[in-house]
Amino acid sequence: MKKKTNQKELESFNNELENLWPLAKGSMSEVRKPCIRPGCSACAKGEKHRAFIFAYRDGKRRRCMHVPLALVPVMRQAIDNCRRLEQLLHQQGPELIRNFRKKKNRKSKEPSGA
Ligand SMILES: [Zn+2]
Repeated sequence: MKKKTNQKELESFNNELENLWPLAKGSMSEVRKPCIRPGCSACAKGEKHRAFIFAYRDGKRRRCMHVPLALVPVMRQAIDNCRRLEQLLHQQGPELIRNFRKKKNRKSKEPSGA
C-alpha cells in the first residue's frame, strides 16, 4: 500500500521530467565579434558577427563555450528547462513533508481495526 502511493508520486515526477529535456545549467549571451578576414564588409561597417556564448561552471571554475547558431534555440530551451527543473526540485522537500502529514492524518482518522 505504502509502496504504491510512492510509486504514484514517482510516476508524476517522471512525467514532469520527461518534458524537461534537454537540460543545460548555465547562461547564454549574445556577443558581436570581429573576424580575422581582411576587408570584411560587416566588420568594416562595425556590424561585426553575431555569436552566442554559453557560460557554465566546471567545479569552481567558470567556463565558456561558443554555441553554433543552429543550436541556439535548443540551448535556450535547455537553460529554461534547467530553471524549471530547479523549481521542481525545490518543491520536493516540502512536498515530502506534506505527503507524510497527509498520510499520517488519514491513518489516525481510520479506525485502528481493534
Ligand atoms: Zn568580419
